[in-house]
Amino acid sequence: MFPRLQWLKAMPRALRELPGQTSKRSFKSFAFNETKRGASTESEPALSSGIPHIMGGRNYKYSEGQVYHGFLCERIEYIPDFELVSCTLRHLGTGTEFWYIDRNDTNNVFSINFRTTPFDSTGLPHILEHLALCGSKNFPVRDPFFKMLNRSVATFMNAMTGPDYTLYPFSTMNEVDFRNLQKIYLDAVFRPNLAYLDFLQEGWRLEHKELSNNNSELVIKGVVYNEMKGAFSENSQVFMQNLLNNMLPDHTYGYVSGGNPLEIPKLTHTDLVKFHRKYYHPSNARMFCYGSFDVMKTLAFVDSEYLAEHSCIDDSYSRIPNQKPWSQPRNVHIPSRLDSLGATFDRQNQIAIALLMCDSTNIQESFELNVLSEILIRGPNSAFYKSLIEPNFSGGYNQSSGYSSDCRDTYFVVGLQDLKVEDFTKFNELFDQTVHTTIEEGFEAQHIESILHNLELSLKHQSPHFGNALLFNSTSLWNHDGDVVSSLRVSEMIAQLRCRLKENKHYFQRKMEKYFVNNTHKLTLTMSPDEMYEENFKQAEAEMLKQKVNALDSEKRQEIYENGIKLESSQKAKESTDVLPCLTLNDVKEPPKLPMIETKTFADVPTQLCKVPTNEISYFKCLFNITGLSRDELMLIPLFSNVINDMGTANHNFREFDKLVLSKTAGIDFKLNFVENVKDAKSYQVGLMMTTHALDKNVKDMFELCKELLLNFKLDDTDRLKMLIENYISNISVGIASSGHLYAMLSSAALVSDAAQLKSLLSGVDHIDFMKKYVEQNSTEEIRERLVHIGSKVFSKSNMRVTINTSEAFQPTVLEHYQTFLQNLPTFEDMTETSELTLLEPSYQHYVMNIPVNYCAKSFFAVPYLHDDHPVLRVLAKLISAKYLLPVVREQNGAYGAGAKIGSDGIFAFFSYRDPHSTKTLDAFDNTYDWLMAESSKLDQQTIFEAKLGVLQQLDSPTAPGNIGIDFFLYGVSQEMFVKYRSRVLSVTVDELQTVIDKYFKEKPKHVGKCILGPTNENLEQETKLNWKIIS
Ligand SMILES: [Zn+2]
Repeated sequence: MFPRLQWLKAMPRALRELPGQTSKRSFKSFAFNETKRGASTESEPALSSGIPHIMGGRNYKYSEGQVYHGFLCERIEYIPDFELVSCTLRHLGTGTEFWYIDRNDTNNVFSINFRTTPFDSTGLPHILEHLALCGSKNFPVRDPFFKMLNRSVATFMNAMTGPDYTLYPFSTMNEVDFRNLQKIYLDAVFRPNLAYLDFLQEGWRLEHKELSNNNSELVIKGVVYNEMKGAFSENSQVFMQNLLNNMLPDHTYGYVSGGNPLEIPKLTHTDLVKFHRKYYHPSNARMFCYGSFDVMKTLAFVDSEYLAEHSCIDDSYSRIPNQKPWSQPRNVHIPSRLDSLGATFDRQNQIAIALLMCDSTNIQESFELNVLSEILIRGPNSAFYKSLIEPNFSGGYNQSSGYSSDCRDTYFVVGLQDLKVEDFTKFNELFDQTVHTTIEEGFEAQHIESILHNLELSLKHQSPHFGNALLFNSTSLWNHDGDVVSSLRVSEMIAQLRCRLKENKHYFQRKMEKYFVNNTHKLTLTMSPDEMYEENFKQAEAEMLKQKVNALDSEKRQEIYENGIKLESSQKAKESTDVLPCLTLNDVKEPPKLPMIETKTFADVPTQLCKVPTNEISYFKCLFNITGLSRDELMLIPLFSNVINDMGTANHNFREFDKLVLSKTAGIDFKLNFVENVKDAKSYQVGLMMTTHALDKNVKDMFELCKELLLNFKLDDTDRLKMLIENYISNISVGIASSGHLYAMLSSAALVSDAAQLKSLLSGVDHIDFMKKYVEQNSTEEIRERLVHIGSKVFSKSNMRVTINTSEAFQPTVLEHYQTFLQNLPTFEDMTETSELTLLEPSYQHYVMNIPVNYCAKSFFAVPYLHDDHPVLRVLAKLISAKYLLPVVREQNGAYGAGAKIGSDGIFAFFSYRDPHSTKTLDAFDNTYDWLMAESSKLDQQTIFEAKLGVLQQLDSPTAPGNIGIDFFLYGVSQEMFVKYRSRVLSVTVDELQTVIDKYFKEKPKHVGKCILGPTNENLEQETKLNWKIIS
């Protein structure tokens, strides 16, 4: 999937986690509560007509068979698992399906989905998705989508292109905002302008290198063109794309829906307009509406404004047939880019086996196969983990592993990363052996139970983005006319599975025979690095360009020259955005209501308590202050966090312990936490946080298991430890190219203060290099001893702070078990509380990476969160992003994204994302003051208000029940401070902005760093007139 705002994804709240620290358990999760693609509960029989419409005797405000504003209500069901009512409606005139989920949740969602099935790799649906958001009949302004980002308090706004669908979702807690965005989105998809100049900007174009010189060299430009070059600079993305294309090659899945950069320039504007007319017809559309706002208003609006004028057409042209199963297995080999941060050349290979499973609309079957996949792959008790991971000849599972139900046909994948070519055969043999042994020996009941428990727990866990998660998890199934309503009845599917497992002891073994043995639709995909990869791409690109250029006649040339000028002037032109709706101050005046937080002390441990409705779950977080560890010890904390819960304890080996943990809790996870002083930025703390949650009924066991781990962790098994360390190292270098801006910001901040430097060493690009060297220089035995030493120093009551979120009724019970837990923990001597922070002299670093795009960042020290200027700078950062960096770095210079932000630690940062330039972008960062000077006299109230809304989007974003109060817990930011901060944001004036502009931007900052992640640039020093440290 190619989301429009990929780089925004990772920058929500002010006080936030470090990148690159995902939980090991976030594998392919099932539930709707995690917004993860590929996560799914879906599957199901296509029998909607015969299904009983279950309302459990409830009275409901709408009825089946009634017509509401042109929509016939076809089916209403109550789904107890999620306490929601599902209403399926169909528009009488056009046949458009409208799925309304009525749920007492303020974070409302609306989305329009289309089934889009490309038959080439020009990226047509993807470019159309970009273009649709570039101006429409009622909103004829340039890029209203981006402009609305600043006129709304949306909790989510995006558009994305999948392999066979395009969707346009947003969510917001504010009803005025909801109606505003609905208007923009509906007009965008049904009446877009699809202007030729926008096609050139967003898709691709030939353009003169120097715009005003029509003798200068011609180059290819375009937002999607660059986006896709960037997307495929990540090897795991290349692997996944090829897996799909080769696994389901017969129909639309044989093509790259996002666009292959070498194919994109084959697309014409005419084809795009035609495609829109055909695929964005209301009969091929699905609308989704979720939450507590009045759906009747939406139905009336959609009907009268958009659907009434259309008639119904047959949508069978966009249906996707099942893949015809092969009679023979296939093998495919692909080359990849040599990843300079990855494993050594001889080990940088990947292999995977994929097997065709069932039709995705067969929901029960697909659900069961998903469970089976988890049992086979996940955790130390699974068969493939034992056979493929434990012998330790690779860097662990690759990103593609798991059950995939994103397409018409589902498939199972298991694969390894970082292994030698010689071991490909071994992988194949082990795969076959594992399948046969598993069928012979069967599954352990307790293991199956632990997986099912974990699934049930994840259903209860409340996410603030439940509506979005439900949409994403249902999109693919819905797209194939599957029974999405029944697929929400997860408890029933689990019960049915349990019943089948009881009736037939060999139930899963029979499934394995069918899908793993008697299945010739089997793909083995291998990938190896090619040192010429980048060069080959450049040559192919040059060849394509040459052909394009040679085919031009003088008339065409003239047109290109004129279009270049036209595009530039349209990008630079000032335009009025008055036509776009916007919230007013009144709509956002009130801060969100926050629950009470108390702090108490139990056995000398400061404990924060929060009573919130948690849906029968209790959340427990335990933060150990580890600032007193030596530098060497601190450097091992990320590794420590990764292995400590995976090695078993004195009383349970690692397999038993994993089963116990999964059958009683959601997992016990550890991670590094970096806590800056948000008051004066003169000091910082480093913490190790243990987090877990469990059903209320399992809370006693949850504390028992935490105690067992903290007191009796055991790292004796050196072979296992060695394997975990090697897998850890393989995993930390995955995903850098897709979140390159975060790594670039971390690295540039590292040049500003020693605290940020430590943070980068613990979680940035520097960490990868450090860990690789560390493992080369130290034996596993030595590392083991250090880790044991760390554990024995850290897990003490004297270093500990705790936060517990649970329901009011259950709190006394939790506290009882909590106190028993505390009684058993030891108290050691106190460690140092904080470290002093030192600011650094300016410096500049270039990480040379073998990728075709750059990620640039510039950071300087301003003031931390609680300083009076911080809210003003935060508003300014939004203003700079929206009014300066996006127009210049994105629209004019062709980067996929750019922005500015200020962290709670006081570091102000600029960044670019998938950027064709580097020094030009750094110049743009440096020119911010000049731009501000030229603009500041023209700053009006509306512009400032829009920037404030941008900040509010982050401040008011909904928080999961388990995370409420986390800012106070970690940073000491109380709710009063938050409310004050929020009202300060809303009250920022032009004069105040002017003051901070002069104070922080006029003079060159004293503590500044710049960083580039990207390809070699020999002219770097000359172009920037700076001394760069080159790291390659
Ligand atoms: Zn895109």
